[in-house]
Amino acid sequence: MTKELAQNAQKLIESSKNIIIIGHKNPDGDAVGSTLGLHFFLKNYGVESTVVLPNDFPDFLKWMPGVDTILNFEKQNSQSVSALENADLIFTLDFNSLSRVGEMQGILEKSDANFIMIDHHQQPDAYATVTYSDPSIGSTCEMVHHFIEGLGKTKLIDADIATLLYTGIMTDTGSFRFPSTTATTHKVIADLLNAGANNAEIHQNVYDANSMSRMKLLGIALDNLHILKEYNTAYITMSQEELDANNFKKGDTEGFVNYALSVTGIIFAVIFIENKQEKIVKMSLRSKGDFSVNEVARAYYNGGGHNNAAGGRSELSLEETVKQFISILPQYKEALTA
Ligand code: 5GP
Ligand code: MN
Repeated sequence: MTKELAQNAQKLIESSKNIIIIGHKNPDGDAVGSTLGLHFFLKNYGVESTVVLPNDFPDFLKWMPGVDTILNFEKQNSQSVSALENADLIFTLDFNSLSRVGEMQGILEKSDANFIMIDHHQQPDAYATVTYSDPSIGSTCEMVHHFIEGLGKTKLIDADIATLLYTGIMTDTGSFRFPSTTATTHKVIADLLNAGANNAEIHQNVYDANSMSRMKLLGIALDNLHILKEYNTAYITMSQEELDANNFKKGDTEGFVNYALSVTGIIFAVIFIENKQEKIVKMSLRSKGDFSVNEVARAYYNGGGHNNAAGGRSELSLEETVKQFISILPQYKEALTA
């Protein structure tokens, strides 16, 4: 991050009284890690702040240091609303459009607070006073480390902060395997280990925390895996009925789409997850190489993300969504078979 950006952010931090840090709806490891990581960093810097997240996050992240200090906008609504309404500085982490925070959006749009965005998604909206956006970086947690470095305060990174940032870097880089993992990522990780992050424990806490019902759901997902060989594409469906029959909990289907992408020759993979309550089909899209799922998600599914990982939604039925999806593939045939 540039000196100028760091200085502008520092001025805002030091001139603000009520600082709120928010992440996107359905927070993932990077959203929880970056918001709490920044919160504890600011604390060590001598500045109070409050983390507000739009809704709950999966159990496999509940061990993270400080999760009990988070305000859940859905569950602790009046407290969250007043915190947001009183804010004079709002950090928005791991998202780049106010439409990504669900029910919190209206309050943010009316707010007079300054905004600081720290984010790595493509095509950021222009709502922030200070925008630190870099889609080439694999995680917002890595960016928070650069941000702390920009302020010249890496000495303030303690074991909790290191653990939080390590977790988000690990989850967003697919455990350091996606192309977004760089030499710099590994240098940051080395710093975090030196500051007290326990890597083996973190991997175990996140990845060896499967419930039996999640394993059953994975079995169903693999059973529902379809290959469209002529497009090097694979997809998985999960109906509401299948979820209900197996005690589905938030986060249970996280990572399932990667099994579709792991089939030899597949470069485009999608999971369709029916959500009858929200009357949508939630989609996770993944790819290998140059095929941009961000473009597909933006063009057809009211979503977005990164080149190789994006999300979106469809308001058709599950069956119609799959049909519609198959119908758009011919226009991508060249890109998918190049
Ligand atoms: P996932 O498929 O794991 O939910 O998300 C993959 C990536 O796409 C993440 O970086 C996430 O932030 C982004 N993403 C997921 N859903 C949406 C969406 O509805 N809109 C946008 N703009 N990005 C999304
Ligand atoms: Mn992220």
